Amino acid sequence: MKAINTHFETKAIRTQIERTQFLEHSSPLYLTSSYVFEDAEDMRASFAEEKERNIYSRFTNPNTSEFVDKICQLEGAESGYAFATGMSAVFSTFAALLESGDHIVSAQSVFGSTHTLFTTYLPKWNINTSYFKVDEADKIKSLITPNTKILYAETPTNPAVDILDLEFLGNIARRHNLLLVIDNCFATPYLQNPIKFGADLVIHSATKLIDGQGRVLGGVTVGRADLIREIYLFSRNTGPALSPFNAWILSKSLETLAVRVDRHCENALKVAQVLEQHANIILVKYPFLKSHPQYEIAKKQMRQGGNIVAFEIKGGVEAGRKFLDSLQLCSLSANLGDTRTIVTHPASTTHSKLSKEERLEVSITDGLVRVSVGLEHIDDIINDLKQALQ
Ligand SMILES: *Cc1c(COP(=O)(O)O)cnc(C)c1O
Repeated sequence: MKAINTHFETKAIRTQIERTQFLEHSSPLYLTSSYVFEDAEDMRASFAEEKERNIYSRFTNPNTSEFVDKICQLEGAESGYAFATGMSAVFSTFAALLESGDHIVSAQSVFGSTHTLFTTYLPKWNINTSYFKVDEADKIKSLITPNTKILYAETPTNPAVDILDLEFLGNIARRHNLLLVIDNCFATPYLQNPIKFGADLVIHSATKLIDGQGRVLGGVTVGRADLIREIYLFSRNTGPALSPFNAWILSKSLETLAVRVDRHCENALKVAQVLEQHANIILVKYPFLKSHPQYEIAKKQMRQGGNIVAFEIKGGVEAGRKFLDSLQLCSLSANLGDTRTIVTHPASTTHSKLSKEERLEVSITDGLVRVSVGLEHIDDIINDLKQALQ
């Protein structure tokens, strides 16, 4: 890509692999598991990494490279690697960078499978995690030990859409010589760039708003080149690579990310404003509502508020379930960031295995409902939510 294309939308559209002899306008799909060598010397030099080229699609592929290059451009990152899912990106990042005895300090409110990784799997390799609550970031320093290597967080958080101060986390990480790793899934590279605030690595589940159309799974980790090198070496030997087909889909999706996310955010803000006025609702949380406890931080680090709105219905678990059963347009589904509006009730589904006390620690009350606001007409979304609230 030529250096003159500096804006987000242009980078998302014009970052592209080299054209073939067919001079195709849009990037072709390279479904090939391996690549051929000119001769024995070419093969030797390629394996010795004396030249940059594709060898085998578990290592690199033109389509996955294009997707990674785009995310790097959009996040302001030096380098990256693409994974089959968001969770393989999360797992491979920890597995590549940590060793037995290392310690993680993490925000308490993280994606469910990431939480399970911390509590069930990493301890098997003697890697343990300490947690801080969103409103207790000043406690982080007291959790750091000589073995702490990674400071980890998501912002906005799932499902309660709390906001963590990235600049604050970046400063702590620098002062204590920790790697700051941010799961930027809810914000996308369009709304927030954690590297600007001091993150060393940024992880995305591309399954969500990056695909944005509920079709494919994917993940990516981008950031400091020396760390990505470790993650790449781990991954090329353990095999969590993104498929070329999914990479091709995701690169196409990035071309429309800005316009899609603009509309998602516009719709979500309207939904939040309408819900805030509704008599059957106790509380609405959306980062760009003035009533959000971390509104000022959200304004500082995000372009817009994202597409997730959390709210609490009067009447607890029963009211939450009844609300879900009364929806006619919105889907009940585990995904988020789709064109279709999706509604979930965390207390009776994704977080039902936690005790009530554990749920409250991550801001999940019994009546909490999470809406991933989609791209249907705003009036239709609001009408469906309103009729179900009645
Ligand atoms: C969905 C999600 C993941 C996991 O991504 P998959 O593609 O489903 O593996 C990780 N982090 C966050 C914040 C997510 O929402």
